[in-house]
Parts: sequence; structure tokens; C-alpha cells
Amino acid sequence: MSTLPKVAWIGLGIMGSPMSENLIKAGYQVTGFTLEQEKLDRLSAAGGTVAGSIAEAVRDADVVVTMVPASPQVEAIAYGPDGILENAKSGALLVDMSSITPQTSVDLAKAAKDKGIRVLDAPVSGGEAGAIEAVLSIMVGGEQADFDEAKPLLEALGKTIVLCGPHGSGQTVKAANQLIVAVNIQACAEAVVFLEKSGVDLKAALDVLNGGLAGSTVLTRKKDNFLNRDFKPGFRIDLHHKDMGIVTDAARNVGAALPVGATVAQLVASLRAQGDGGLDHSALLRAVERLSGAQV
Ligand code: NAD
Repeated sequence: MSTLPKVAWIGLGIMGSPMSENLIKAGYQVTGFTLEQEKLDRLSAAGGTVAGSIAEAVRDADVVVTMVPASPQVEAIAYGPDGILENAKSGALLVDMSSITPQTSVDLAKAAKDKGIRVLDAPVSGGEAGAIEAVLSIMVGGEQADFDEAKPLLEALGKTIVLCGPHGSGQTVKAANQLIVAVNIQACAEAVVFLEKSGVDLKAALDVLNGGLAGSTVLTRKKDNFLNRDFKPGFRIDLHHKDMGIVTDAARNVGAALPVGATVAQLVASLRAQGDGGLDHSALLRAVERLSGAQV
């Protein structure tokens, strides 16, 4: 009999599917619920148990992990008569790994406390590849004792796992992460268009750039997307648009100026308005190409 905590997993998308599969590989019993049938079939094929509702998924769980798109979905699955707080057992630990506003995490932790449920915000960075390879960075907000309890489970999902402070702190750090990633992608995209228009061999240029101070995880992970114009998501522009809203809003609240971040937020919004919201965020390249006169 396994002594590992029983896990309920809500949200089996691009990230949630491979992450939950890594828990199964590590020996955890995982019961999952998500909106798409094919994702439920995938969980079942990986050795997980499929639930017919959130209530059914969380009823016997010691730990409930959530990985849904944004604050409205976290609120939809957490609150109300069919939600996690009403149906999970008292003493359960809710680990929300979605990227949402810090305030939503703070409010959720408060509401959960009234039900005897403990909460950690634990958003991640590392993308789909990081989820598959179980090498995510996980930035956590909440109580030290809950972090210590969750750590072995998180170690089956990621490599760099840090308690950043009280509830909401993980989300604040994730917002900063998304700022850095977007600005980095934008800089790479501008370099790609500049290099191509200058007639330089792009692959050679990106290889040598990545070996110097201009190198980055973004360039390593997204180089082939740029070279092949492969914008299959990955991380959707729609989600990065949401994250740029979170970081610009949170920064305004604390009086931090983000002049470059705000500009990149506008470029992400523009790309989305042009119908590219479902593409990978490396498609920021398309925005730069359009600004530079290309018909893409
Ligand atoms: P996704 O759209 O692929 O998956 C979201 C999943 O949530 C879907 O499977 C959907 O069925 C489920 N869901 C939504 N509402 C639900 C509900 N009411 N009940 C049950 N399930 C519900 O999104 P994703 O790319 O996996 O991203 C998930 C979160 O992780 C987002 O907050 C995102 O910003 C963050 N994130 C994504 C990446 C990435 O590279 N994709 C990287 C880091 C962080």
C-alpha cells in the first residue's frame, strides 16, 4: 500500500497532462478532472483515475493540485457548491499551480482557511518542455509547514522549488518571470528580423549569440520556433496576454514603472487582436515582421 498522499488533479491541459503523468510515474495515485474528454482518456492511459466532476475528484484527496488558465477558472473550480472548497476534506492541501493574480491567491487562501483547507500558490516556469522533463521552476507562496509537506510532490514536477513568502508571493514572482520572458522573446524576435534583412545566416547567428551574453533559456528553447516559423503552442499568446495584464497591474499597484514591459504588453495585445492568440508566444516574431513590412 502506497503511503504517498492521494492526489486530485484539476486541469489537464498542455501543462497539467505531463505534470500529472510525472506524479503517476513517481508512484502517486492521481484522480483527475478536466473539460476535454481526450485529456481524460490520456490520464487513464497513463495510469490515473478519471473523475466525472470536481467533487468526485477531490473527495478522498490529501492534496488537490489545480492547473487551469487564469483567475476566473480558479474561482470557478474552487468556489460554489460543486467546487473544491465545498467538497475536499478538511485538512487537505490545495496547491494551485495556475498563473493568476496575486490577489486571487490571497483571497483563495483566506476562504479555504474557513473550511480547514490549506493553500499554496505554486505557479511554474519552464514551459511544456519543462513540464514533460520534470525540470520546472516552481515559485511558491504560503506557510513554511505546508511548503515542507508539498515539497516531495513538487520535486516530482520540477528542479528549482522555492518558497518566496506568504500567500500570493509565488504569483508575484511568476508575474516578474513573465515580464522577463516576454521582453526576452521580443528582443530575440527583433534580432531575427534584423539578421534576416541583413542577409546573415540565421542559424549560425543564433548559435553564436546563444553562446555569449545574449544567450538565454528563451533562445535555447525558442530558436527552432524562430528558424522554422513553427508557432504551435507551447505557451499561447492568449495566456501571455493575461500574464502581461497581471504584471502591469501589480506593478502599478506598488508604484513600479515598467516602460519596456508595458510596450511589449501592447505588442502581445496587438498580436492577439490580429487573430494570433492561439499561437505560441514565439509568434511575437510575426508582430515584428509585420512592423517591418512583411505580409505574414
Ligand atoms: P491549457 O489551456 O492547455 O489547459 C488548461 C486546462 O484547464 C484545460 O485542459 C481545461 O480543460 C482545464 N479547465 C479549465 N476550466 C476548467 C474547469 N472549470 N474545470 C476543470 N478543468 C478546467 O493551459 P496550459 O498551457 O496548461 O496552462 C495552464 C496554466 O499554466 C496557465 O495559468 C498558464 O499561464 C500556466 N503556464 C503555462 C505554461 C505553458 O508553457 N503552457 C508555462 C507555465 C505556466
